[in-house]
Amino acid sequence: MNIPEGLVTVEGLAVMALLTLMGIGSYIEKEPTAGRKAMMLLPVSFVLVLLGYWDYPGKIWVTGIIGLSILVFGIYLFVPAFLFRKKKEAFPKGRIDERTVMFSRKELKPGSDRFKKYYAEHPEHFRKDEQFRQQPGLLSKDAVFYNSLAFVAAEANFFIVDALQDRIEPPVSLEKQIIEPEEAADFVKNWLLKIGVKSVGITLMRDYHWYTVGGRGERYGKPVLPRHRYGIAFTVEMDEEMVKAAPRSSIIMESAQRYLQAGTIAVQLAKLIASLGYEARAHIDGNYQVVAPLVARDANLGEIGRMGLLMTPELGPRVRVGVVTTNMPLVPDKRIYDDSMEDFCGKCMKCAENCPSSAIPFEKQTKIDTVRRWQIDSEACYSYWCKVGTDCGRCMSVCPYSHADNLMHNMVRWAIKMFPNFRWWAVRMDDLFYGRKPAPQKIPGWLKVITQVNSKGKQADISNQDKPEKCSDLSIKDQNIEQPER
Ligand code: SF4
Ligand code: SF4
Repeated sequence: MNIPEGLVTVEGLAVMALLTLMGIGSYIEKEPTAGRKAMMLLPVSFVLVLLGYWDYPGKIWVTGIIGLSILVFGIYLFVPAFLFRKKKEAFPKGRIDERTVMFSRKELKPGSDRFKKYYAEHPEHFRKDEQFRQQPGLLSKDAVFYNSLAFVAAEANFFIVDALQDRIEPPVSLEKQIIEPEEAADFVKNWLLKIGVKSVGITLMRDYHWYTVGGRGERYGKPVLPRHRYGIAFTVEMDEEMVKAAPRSSIIMESAQRYLQAGTIAVQLAKLIASLGYEARAHIDGNYQVVAPLVARDANLGEIGRMGLLMTPELGPRVRVGVVTTNMPLVPDKRIYDDSMEDFCGKCMKCAENCPSSAIPFEKQTKIDTVRRWQIDSEACYSYWCKVGTDCGRCMSVCPYSHADNLMHNMVRWAIKMFPNFRWWAVRMDDLFYGRKPAPQKIPGWLKVITQVNSKGKQADISNQDKPEKCSDLSIKDQNIEQPER
């Protein structure tokens, strides 16, 4: 066998090995369509192997041209990132008033003084907010994806999250224990990993991490004082099977479970630190004083992607974030900006294409508050949640970074990070195997409800839990909304 023949044979075997890994991995991940496609491509790669073995006229030219073309393409794909110009990281300057955040606005009671005052000061929000107020609401019986089992399971989670609210800032022990910052950081990280977090990091708190003014419950209108020096951020994984059915009911059940998990761990950690004699505050669902994704980003846990969520290197956005702020001396992690994720988001746009409320921009990042970033239409997103009753999560479920933390996907994520030319092709491969607009998967069988009745006494349409529907079927129509009396 001469060099061109050997080259084509080795290339054919390498492609076959990758496709086999992909096929088997996909079946294990319950992605039969991707597995089938990988297996269907196997014979094509086998032809490459045969081209090196068979005898036919002009073999040296055929193998030479094909072998060399594949080699050149491979070299182009794997040009290392250090040969490209790296983007500089930008940091926000201003702080956000929590009252302007969607979750605060949803708590405004129509007709109340607070409601009137808010919309007098922010008339630009009124029309958009009336859209979500006209929808059935999160976890509503009249919502599109109402599922009595999943919704009560989520409510049970939020019930316990509510019970945690009194414990977010435990009393500080008068007996202070002196621990070296390195030891304290090491202990906290190892302990959190031991009790189930996916990743953990520490950052120095900066002004822009803190809201200016509280926006929820008793904190409404009260200034937020940036009083802690360190932020400990961690992520917990969201179950892939539950996320893949998004925006169906399993997603809110899973989100609620992870809010509870992150909240419990945060309160546990705050208590531990307080018992050591240092101030600490857990920031949990419904009670944040900080912008959690920014704290997590600066603690080196990931980057902020097109959909506005934290994108972790291991699981992309398929995580929930927990934060504890404290004055216990710690050693912050060195922030290493990874510009590969933003670059990949620039080429991918899968979340924007699949978002049922068109809330995610297709455009390039724009400069907002001195920082180039993507800004989602949070009003459109939240209105959709209130229509379907779940927190949607469709963007998270289709994101190529959200695939399982296993050998096959880790190899792809590593190649995306290391080789800029590979990124465009990685998007195309993801489209090929998983679909550009994949249908949401079915909810797990044990979550199916045979009959359920909505609040109007009608049987809710549960057929939508089984049928994959197109995203366009779920879009929200514009509505005529009157301005309120002020
Ligand atoms: S789906 Fe694509 S564009 Fe959207 S966040 Fe994920 S990687 Fe970025
Ligand atoms: S509507 Fe769904 S897909 Fe769109 S941004 Fe909101 S959660 Fe993501």
